[in-house]
Amino acid sequence: MICDRCGAELAPGSLKYLVTIHVTADFDGALPAEGGLDDLEAFMRQVDGEDPVRLERDVYQSHGHLLCPACKDAFLRDPLGVARGGGPEEGRMH
Ligand SMILES: [Zn+2]
Repeated sequence: MICDRCGAELAPGSLKYLVTIHVTADFDGALPAEGGLDDLEAFMRQVDGEDPVRLERDVYQSHGHLLCPACKDAFLRDPLGVARGGGPEEGRMH
């Protein structure tokens, strides 16, 4: 087995982490403000015609990643990948 992030070899019995990411579509109960009943019916027809597998993937996705300890720490520090490069210290004076 290898780490999904850095490709490091994960020896049998070594410490490794399975990170499972669940992504679900969030429905807040509100329909788009613009558009009347005609649009809604058109939308429902469109949904009917969709490939069910593709539609389900749009609504719910789940990914599992096997990570080495270093990559697990890096993932937990920045799960969304928004941190900018430049080292761990933030707001460092220059
Ligand atoms: Zn790794």
